[in-house]
Amino acid sequence: MELYPKNLEELEQNFSTEEACRRYLFEWRWPDGFVCPDCHHKESWVLSDGLFKCKSCGRKTSIIAGTIFEGTRKPLVSWFRAVWWVTCQKNGASALGLKRILGLGSYQTAWTWLHKLRRAMVRPEQDRLTGTVQVDETFIGGAKSGKRGRGAEGKVLVLIIAQEKGKGTGRIRLRRISNAKAKTLETAIKETVGEGAKIKTDGWKGYNGLKTLGYEHEVIRQTEDIGVNLLPLCHQEASLIKRWLGGTHQGAVSHEHLGYYLDEYTFRFNRRTSRSRGMLFYRLLQNAVIIDPTKYKEITLSVRGRKPNHKM
Ligand SMILES: [Zn+2]
Repeated sequence: MELYPKNLEELEQNFSTEEACRRYLFEWRWPDGFVCPDCHHKESWVLSDGLFKCKSCGRKTSIIAGTIFEGTRKPLVSWFRAVWWVTCQKNGASALGLKRILGLGSYQTAWTWLHKLRRAMVRPEQDRLTGTVQVDETFIGGAKSGKRGRGAEGKVLVLIIAQEKGKGTGRIRLRRISNAKAKTLETAIKETVGEGAKIKTDGWKGYNGLKTLGYEHEVIRQTEDIGVNLLPLCHQEASLIKRWLGGTHQGAVSHEHLGYYLDEYTFRFNRRTSRSRGMLFYRLLQNAVIIDPTKYKEITLSVRGRKPNHKM
């Protein structure tokens, strides 16, 4: 095996023990070798339970402390299988599917694992798109189109940023936005599109300030209703996302969690041409150990009293 397993057989061969999984995570957690979080000493003993004990101050550190795996009672071997399975699902992963494939005892565990893994999908999307991009908004969660400026009840507004590549789409970014006012749109665009890029939009006045932000701006359609006659690449993405939410997740995604699903969609879409599924596996695990741990409590805080098992 090189950087990542190429198939299920390689996964099982290389990650059949806790020690093997820990070794794999080690280089991202401590790229320059072990460092004690307390005294910054660089030498350690590896204890039989997998903990690292600082040779100077004696502090014991777990390889998964401070990662999305922190506090898990399940073996890393199971987590690695979950990551593999999640990256192999072309149409996205459902909690029920994960529960079945891993034989997890509860739906809630599977649901939590998926949410943690979704958070590990966010990080690679931090760089900004360049070249020519199409930008438009779409409503998710409601039927038909809506009017800008008026809040559409039961719907969430999402900004779609799609990079042109030949006649098709390069990479995308998706941002949940609270309204289509200039300030909101500009903030989202500044986060996702590099300066100097060319931005194509419709004639909505919320986009009028793009030139002053250092972008080249082209209005390719004057009408300004959302959801009808969208810019072609954005329109395509909007349909794909809605089909995905309606299919894999059966339309049961709560508005509070939509942002994480958009991250998952973006992660998969931008890697759809990756030669190997293993590359996604590698990226996800890499992100999993360098982001902050997301405790289940934090995830469910935004559920507003609804039980997760009814939502996904
Ligand atoms: Zn120490």
